[in-house]
Amino acid sequence: MSSAPALGAHKHRDRPFVVQVAGLLRDPGSRRRVELSAPIDDLAVSGSRVPDGAPVTIEALLESVHEGILVTGTVSASWEGECRRCLEPARGELRLDVRELCVEEGDVETTYALTADELDLEPIAHDACILELPLAPLCKEGCLGLCPECGANRNLELCACGPAPDSRWGPLVMLEDVAPQARSAQGATRPDTAASETTE
Ligand SMILES: [Zn+2]
Ligand SMILES: [Zn+2]
Repeated sequence: MSSAPALGAHKHRDRPFVVQVAGLLRDPGSRRRVELSAPIDDLAVSGSRVPDGAPVTIEALLESVHEGILVTGTVSASWEGECRRCLEPARGELRLDVRELCVEEGDVETTYALTADELDLEPIAHDACILELPLAPLCKEGCLGLCPECGANRNLELCACGPAPDSRWGPLVMLEDVAPQARSAQGATRPDTAASETTE
């Protein structure tokens, strides 16, 4: 086993989430609070991403436990994406509570890796962001979206295509006509039963 060069007190610029934990591991029951913040590359899901260069922050309590180190805290970052209804830019803040066990040798599916003296919190911060990034973001609660006829942004203008909501309700209005027979025929009152029968 090759011994790593002695680590200086300076922070690793390329590994900003690394915490020295030899002291913690030597002293079961001991705790340490950390707050680390740095950009992480390639944090994106299909609908949104953490902007390039924007910091991800992890605030956590590290506890030396029998198996390794328990990390309890929160991961936060800003995100940006495209509104799924109007296609305009959408942005917000994500924040996720985390509670993860880090062990030297363990099940990679359920735990995070730890070495004898270093714990890298970046995988925890990374996974939390991927989990919490919105897949279908909205620019705002209640965004009215685009008109399906002319493409006008209904948040900004009223187009002349007529009341689109009415055309969408059309099929439901028809359902009301058939529903009474459907119910009496089956003795059932579930509206979804009636709805599914109209397709037959
Ligand atoms: Zn929108
Ligand atoms: Zn329109």
